[in-house]
Amino acid sequence: MLKGKTALVTGSTSGIGKAIATRLAAEGANVMLNGFGDAKEIEALRSGLERDHKVKVAFSGADLTKVEAITQMMDEAKAAFGGVDILVNNAGVQHVAPIDEFPVAKWDLIIALNLTSAFHTTRLALPFMKSRKWGRILNMGSAHAKVASPYKSAYVSAKHGLAGFTKTAALEGAEHGVRVNLICPGYVHTPLVDGQIDDTAKARGMSRDEVVKNVILAAQPTKEFVTVEQIAGLAVFLCSPSADSINGTELSIDGGWTAQ
Ligand code: NAD
Repeated sequence: MLKGKTALVTGSTSGIGKAIATRLAAEGANVMLNGFGDAKEIEALRSGLERDHKVKVAFSGADLTKVEAITQMMDEAKAAFGGVDILVNNAGVQHVAPIDEFPVAKWDLIIALNLTSAFHTTRLALPFMKSRKWGRILNMGSAHAKVASPYKSAYVSAKHGLAGFTKTAALEGAEHGVRVNLICPGYVHTPLVDGQIDDTAKARGMSRDEVVKNVILAAQPTKEFVTVEQIAGLAVFLCSPSADSINGTELSIDGGWTAQ
């Protein structure tokens, strides 16, 4: 379905981003991976996707908290593939602490990565998408783009901000064939959530098991984690012609969390 298209998925060396990059490659898109991690594992992922799906896959280790690094990554995508048709702004980190103890550097990091980096990648990707009269921008929101939880002030602020940015970009892209949407997952058991289980346990004085049962899955009515494959399936759908009229929306994939 996506043969001839190029997808840039930020934060795709792990978790949700990796699953989305894999599904987009399976649909025939060339892919630019991004993120941190072990060089050998990343190369195995890159070459494995090329081999399994007969597409071109490049990798940028750009630190998306730095505008120069983002500019370089976008230049590399242009040199390798001509431009980016599908942009998935997925990279994100979390930190859990009460506001009056929240480390200022963590606030700055989360706003820079989870919110500001999407502005930079989007502004740099849009001219190519407009010239092609087709583009898909998928921003990775969260249930925390709609509701709050205590001790996650920076994350909740960044994700709510990303919801506003998504709507604005959707309006600006509407007449150019560009569709911009926010995917809002509930809890997915990735390394990000694993770290959060530890942080929440510390902040609330609970064990890891108690946090999973009484905090994390307590909020999710299905009492089941959302899977990375389910989110990747939604991402592929949003790139399909069936989704041509879906623009500027917040799509919950949270087992009913935000229905409460
Ligand atoms: P993850 O920790 O598994 O992956 C995060 C990715 O971001 C990794 O590839 C990492 O290398 C990359 N990254 C981190 N800092 C970076 C930086 N400075 N520059 C570039 N890349 C960087 O996390 P995940 O759970 O897969 O989360 C992915 C996205 O999904 C995040 O935006 C997160 O907020 C969102 N999300 C996750 C959940 C969940 O329950 N896991 C729920 C809702 C939303």
